[in-house]
Amino acid sequence: MGPTPFTGPRPFLGPTPFLDRVRTYAAEELTGVRDPFGSLGPLPTPAQRAFHAHGLANWWLPEKHGGRGMSLADSVDIVSELSYADAGAAFTLFISVLGSTMVSLYGSEELKDRTLGSTGPSGGFSATLGSEREAGSELTRIATRAARREGQFVLDGEKMFATNADFADFLVVVAVNADNPLEHLAVVVPRDTPGVRVDKRWKTLGLPSAGTYQVSFDNCRVPEANALHGPGLLLLEVGLNTSRTLIAATAIGIARRIRDLCLEYARTRRLRGESLLANPVFGSKLGHMEMQIEVMRHQCLAAATEFDALSALPEAPDELLARGALRSAVAAKMFCGQSGWQLASTASEMFGGLGYTTELPIGGLLQDMRYVSLVEGGDDVLRELLYRRYVIPSRRRL
Ligand SMILES: Cc1cc2nc3c(=O)[nH]c(=O)nc-3n(C[C@H](O)[C@H](O)[C@H](O)COP(=O)(O)OP(=O)(O)OC[C@H]3O[C@@H](n4cnc5c(N)ncnc54)[C@H](O)[C@@H]3O)c2cc1C
Repeated sequence: MGPTPFTGPRPFLGPTPFLDRVRTYAAEELTGVRDPFGSLGPLPTPAQRAFHAHGLANWWLPEKHGGRGMSLADSVDIVSELSYADAGAAFTLFISVLGSTMVSLYGSEELKDRTLGSTGPSGGFSATLGSEREAGSELTRIATRAARREGQFVLDGEKMFATNADFADFLVVVAVNADNPLEHLAVVVPRDTPGVRVDKRWKTLGLPSAGTYQVSFDNCRVPEANALHGPGLLLLEVGLNTSRTLIAATAIGIARRIRDLCLEYARTRRLRGESLLANPVFGSKLGHMEMQIEVMRHQCLAAATEFDALSALPEAPDELLARGALRSAVAAKMFCGQSGWQLASTASEMFGGLGYTTELPIGGLLQDMRYVSLVEGGDDVLRELLYRRYVIPSRRRL
């Protein structure tokens, strides 16, 4: 049986009442505390419950699966608003987009109803498990195995990093086919399946309100029907177009917040008898930040719009598989990570010595910004990906 047709989301509509609701939620529930999800316990946290109560959870899922059917382009500004308040909360609230996109595009109708159809209405989460300690970014070397036995897949192995895995309803696990080491599979594993163990939560430098876990599988059995249709590593690549774009969009929100904090600080700080706001050197840095924020947002929107357009095609699953990692999404993550880091670093100097203390939010924002360039492919990995996929083949060069 081939993949089922995918009904694409509607196009980007610009500022919407939905975005106003996101802003209200962020202001009421996320602003003013460093870890609004109370280090994720007990679950669901009040702020997570409020997100669902505001009708915002899993906004990208189709309405029939309990979402709002919002496009990826809509999601850029939604994530920017959430990250303006707290990037870790934003990451927690959007990262399910990766696994759910893989299921939406490459799962059977029955699997979609069983997974998205229950997670969506309850405001729940999913996690996607690719990374392993030994393989690093060479995902073809992953060792987690899925063996087909009597109508089931039996999973064994260890996944190093998996955001949301502890409290997710289901996990999308990328594994090597135990019967054919050249083939990889993506298998949906309900979190409460016997044999799934969360070994630890990582202590991270930033994003305190996001939970990233090490997970292992020991003789973990799921129905064969839980496998997605298609080569697992490529399905992951397709899904990463959504999450890479939204990781990039977190940089926009963090950068906007940093800009506003710089302005606030300058209002109170005097230099040669004048407000720092009147100083042209200070002002030009803020002007430069504005340029960076604008270009970051436009690259995210370009990536999101390309993904939305491909998703709306009747043959979307096959077309996306043929393209794999989109240049626009890779560029968005790399550009936003680099520009965001440069902007955060400049800003930390603008606060003088206080910028290097924990008195002000800038230190935490700098740590949050760092994740953009690291998660879902560091820049070395993405540079090489662009080189191999979009520079060497002359037909794909711009
Ligand atoms: C907070 C957080 C959340 C995460 N969430 C998830 C998740 O939900 N699911 C998941 O599967 N993973 C997750 N990850 C893993 C994350 O995506 C990886 O850590 C990231 O992609 C980097 O891969 P790596 O750790 O394997 O390091 P590597 O990419 O292997 O890098 C190690 C070193 O090797 C170098 N290197 C690697 N490849 C190349 C190359 N081709 N050319 C030159 N140099 C290279 C790098 O530059 C670096 O110096 C998460 C990680 C963090 C920190």
